[in-house]
Amino acid sequence: MITVEEATEQVLSRISVLEPERVPLLDALGRVLAEDVVSDIDIAPFDNSAMDGYAVRHADVVGARDDAPVTLKVVDHIPAGVAPERAVGPGEASRIMTGAPVPLGADTIVMVERTRAGEGEGRVGGTVQILEAAKAGEHVRRRGEEVRAGEVVLLAGDEVGPAAIGLAASVGHAELVVHRRPQVAIVSTGDELVDVTEKPGPGKIRNSNSYSLAAQVMEAGGDPHVLGVALDNEEHTRALLFRAPEFDLMITTGGVSMGDFDVVKKVLTEIGELDFWKVAMRPGAPQTFGTIGGTPFFGLPGNPTSTMVGFEMYVRPAMRKMAGFCTLARPRVVATLEHDVEKKADRRYFLRARLTPCEEGYSVAISGNQSSALLTAMHRANCLMSLPEGEFFVPAGTEVICIRLDMEEGTP
Ligand code: AMP
Ligand code: MG
Repeated sequence: MITVEEATEQVLSRISVLEPERVPLLDALGRVLAEDVVSDIDIAPFDNSAMDGYAVRHADVVGARDDAPVTLKVVDHIPAGVAPERAVGPGEASRIMTGAPVPLGADTIVMVERTRAGEGEGRVGGTVQILEAAKAGEHVRRRGEEVRAGEVVLLAGDEVGPAAIGLAASVGHAELVVHRRPQVAIVSTGDELVDVTEKPGPGKIRNSNSYSLAAQVMEAGGDPHVLGVALDNEEHTRALLFRAPEFDLMITTGGVSMGDFDVVKKVLTEIGELDFWKVAMRPGAPQTFGTIGGTPFFGLPGNPTSTMVGFEMYVRPAMRKMAGFCTLARPRVVATLEHDVEKKADRRYFLRARLTPCEEGYSVAISGNQSSALLTAMHRANCLMSLPEGEFFVPAGTEVICIRLDMEEGTP
């Protein structure tokens, strides 16, 4: 048996980053940039107003106060999207809307709330009273304040979130170059499996793993390809495993323990390479990993929770590496254990658990029955509580490490 860390290291050493592709802007959401994004314009593209108000000459308003307003003549009205028709001279102001270009002559904006309409209700031809000595340049967004034309606004390696999409749009990129999504083949094994639409007959169970895994693949940013169920014989298993090189990686579930019909390892050794098949962890010690025709292959155990935990610990980081992310592991927090736990000393435990914020930080307790055949505790969990090898008994009050399932990698 190897340790969780050794297994992770072996897996990641076999994974390479997928090649880039050019996609429509919105398809880049959640993916990693493979090229820098350069602006074709200055941003802001021109000096513009950050407020609805009046464009003025600072020198005119230095003495303005509530009880000693300065009266200016209103010479223009500038909505957003329109070029000013005339310059602002001494003793003059132009009514201006947010985002509209600042007219020549003006250098400062006074927000409308700090003015009072004079003659003609403060419209063109009338007057406005300024009630405040605005600071020079106040509420003017300067041309090129954020970005200069030719400057890099997003870096290769950046994750594309909604703000990055907006930035790319503002600098004229209708497409982005990002790393490809991993294409992931999913094969469940077992003569006992029937599909979700069927009522299981005697000795049969529904194939839930293909669905939970496909969902995990989607959540991790990949595209699942469910190839169907392999029967528990070498011939049928071989026929499906042979297809691995059509995909970026392949996952199977079941057929990797010590049972008489557990043929996955044997077929893998025959048509590919086996790297490891047992990790000192619970649930899911029989984690199998190797390659088939160069495609990484994960033989996850069959019990539904073992499958999901195996995906979390090994497949998800591998997929993230393929997709170009630099943070591969979920965030971890330390929490105070709410109850005693008895365990086997020879392996790492990943208990399905719930973290709760408390005064000192977090407390944590298991989220239900820990049988790896059951999914309810996994459904209720927001973390995996990691209990180290070497311990038989972990008493209530111990500080334990929890792997957050409710947070993306890279979140603090
Ligand atoms: P195995 O390692 O193939 O013996 O599977 C371990 C346990 O997981 C058995 O009880 C299987 O019936 C169950 N199992 C295997 N594959 C699936 C699946 N796709 N969906 C739900 N349960 C499964
Ligand atoms: Mg089986």
